Amino acid sequence: MPATGPDTEVRDLPGVGPRRARALEDAGIHRAGDLLLRLPFRYEDRSARRRVSEMSDGEAASVEVAVESLEVRPTRRRGLRIVELRGYDGSEPVRATWFNQVHLKHILRPGRRVLLFGPVKRAFAGGAPMLNNPRYELVEPGQLEPGLTAPRGDGAAPQEPGGSPHVGRIVPIYERIGTLDPRALRGILHHLIGSESAAGAGYLPAALASRLQLPSRKRALEEVHFPPPGASLETFERRRSSGHQRLILEEFFLFALGLELRRRQDRTARAGGSTFAVDDGLRSLVRRVLPFRLTPSQREALATMAREFQSPLTMRRLLQGDVGSGKTIVAVIAALIVMHHGAQAALMAPTEVLAEQHFTTIRGLLEPHGIRVALLTAGLGAADRRDTLTAVASGWTQFVVGTHSLIQEGAKFRNLGFAVVDEQHKFGVAQRSSLLERGGGCDLLVMTATPIPRSLTMALHGDLDLSELRELPPGRQPIRTLVRPSAELPGVYQSVRNEVRQGRQAFHVCPTIDESEESPGSGVEARFRQLADGPFRGLKVDFVHGRMPSVRRERTMAAFVRGELEVLVATTVIEVGVDVPNATMMVVENAERFGLAQLHQLRGRVGRGAHPATAVLVVGGRPTEMARRRLRVLEETSDGFRIAEEDLAIRGPGDFFGTRQSGIPPFRVADIVRDADFLRLARKEAASFLASSAIGTAEGRRILTHVRAIWGERFRLAAAG
Ligand code: ADP
Ligand code: MG
Repeated sequence: MPATGPDTEVRDLPGVGPRRARALEDAGIHRAGDLLLRLPFRYEDRSARRRVSEMSDGEAASVEVAVESLEVRPTRRRGLRIVELRGYDGSEPVRATWFNQVHLKHILRPGRRVLLFGPVKRAFAGGAPMLNNPRYELVEPGQLEPGLTAPRGDGAAPQEPGGSPHVGRIVPIYERIGTLDPRALRGILHHLIGSESAAGAGYLPAALASRLQLPSRKRALEEVHFPPPGASLETFERRRSSGHQRLILEEFFLFALGLELRRRQDRTARAGGSTFAVDDGLRSLVRRVLPFRLTPSQREALATMAREFQSPLTMRRLLQGDVGSGKTIVAVIAALIVMHHGAQAALMAPTEVLAEQHFTTIRGLLEPHGIRVALLTAGLGAADRRDTLTAVASGWTQFVVGTHSLIQEGAKFRNLGFAVVDEQHKFGVAQRSSLLERGGGCDLLVMTATPIPRSLTMALHGDLDLSELRELPPGRQPIRTLVRPSAELPGVYQSVRNEVRQGRQAFHVCPTIDESEESPGSGVEARFRQLADGPFRGLKVDFVHGRMPSVRRERTMAAFVRGELEVLVATTVIEVGVDVPNATMMVVENAERFGLAQLHQLRGRVGRGAHPATAVLVVGGRPTEMARRRLRVLEETSDGFRIAEEDLAIRGPGDFFGTRQSGIPPFRVADIVRDADFLRLARKEAASFLASSAIGTAEGRRILTHVRAIWGERFRLAAAG
């Protein structure tokens, strides 16, 4: 049989028969390399072996015992039986008991030696010391001398032949895989680790590993599976041993290489293309267009983009900023740079309401300066639509705003230089890549109002360069956030009426529940009737929900935006982007049912004007502890970045965006939250690796081939080059 390597199939490994092989395969573990990356989630220090006579009450240690007898006894509780072992550890008699584990009869036979691990209970009335439900390992003959003291510090290397993986050392505890319990896995992995070539050389450049003083892949795997004597369990369990660090960095390094290759592919796509420089004419135009002073981070984002426009490389930029941070104006000024040089700009929004709103804002800013702006949505009549398409195709229209039908229905541009995608988190992961691709060679800015923790930004959008708007424009009124039980709703209604009396507007959001299949939206509609005929009688109230005909929904939204409605009862369809500066009150019913990011977005619909605003989160029933934590976070902060971090902490990364669609790449050893620092380091190293001559070496080529094999599909990497 050929030597075991990382690609050896699990069924060919020693200790793995057909049944075990099937269990491993079912768990997605096909090759030795996969199995080696199933790291222990915990370790147990069984090296500190003691005699019972030296142990005090409650102390836990490994005790080696010669079995004298094993007895199964019924108890007074029906069906419950006790297995009791009596034995001798060289110092005194020892007892151990287990509940119901009758099969131990066949394992812990008299005359055998067993290592028991657990806390000892010293008997009060003279009986032998007792271990309750201890973990046990059989001591195979010849492995341990009776009464041998702890091998701590004796330098026994884990791979030393004859050393048992199960006792007398720090042992790894694995998650069970099908029929393979921790002990079986330990045996198989011990074998595998002992083999010379199973680990393979790995894919971290040797020069990098040695500069960072990280062990070889082989040593790293030995260490994380079988920590050396005296190792700190805490360090290992936090996955901060040097072996863990090596494996984490290696995994991130390969991912970062994939990202970096993707970026290079994008950037060279238009190398040699047009460049848009900033001159005095443009500067003076920008000054005339700008209705206010830009915030420092708006200015910084624009300066970066201006530099990028001047370079022949394609821009692929993510503008991340909290709700209300002023992303639109950044996109508009950037578009000015491009239009100043005769190219066209396009802005794409996820909903028609939002597209129309952007159109109105942008036309208001640009038309006075002779720039021609058009709106292109599905709502347009056929004739208007044809005219608009012609104007865009001829180059007459300089700035076109639309929904993503803009791209789907293939509007032809004369000379598209710059595409902006607003609220990109509303477009799914798949849509996002296709948008990027259809953006073709032109410069692209993607804007998102859902700030996500930096570690995730990198994993999700690492192929984009990042600009952040970290502050809100000056003069904003902070939003007061109140959490109230539903019993206090009458008072909440009164506050809504007060706002309306002062000329303000309010949103009243309820979750889409209790609705029947036949009449979607009936829940909101029923609630709307109750409110309109009851507490909001006499006010101008209407409602919208996601499943009503879009024409009707858009009309109602538009009426609210124009101030013709005073209260809008809605589902979360109003979550995205709409700017109604006169709205000062946001009531969310059953707030405990919403996610943190969603509540933050909803709250961001108010407080966008000069008047102070209030968000009231109404809690129905008894919220779970998690829901209470979410609401507390919202009361405490309105910083979207902090809220994102808290959201992640409360939900964990798996659940952060709803696992499947999250787009978070599947890592095996690394964790993008815990290991965020490693991801940063990996990106830096990947960039300098690709820029160095190392990629031309045999090692470099081997690494890049591997990157294409594992990440090529996700990043749509070209086959080579
Ligand atoms: P978002 O980032 O949520 O898309 P918008 O671009 O809609 O935010 O901006 C929110 C509001 O803030 C708009 O009314 C906009 O005119 C205003 N605004 C943006 N930047 C500034 C600024 N620097 N100073 C004052 N107001 C600003
Ligand atoms: Mg916006």
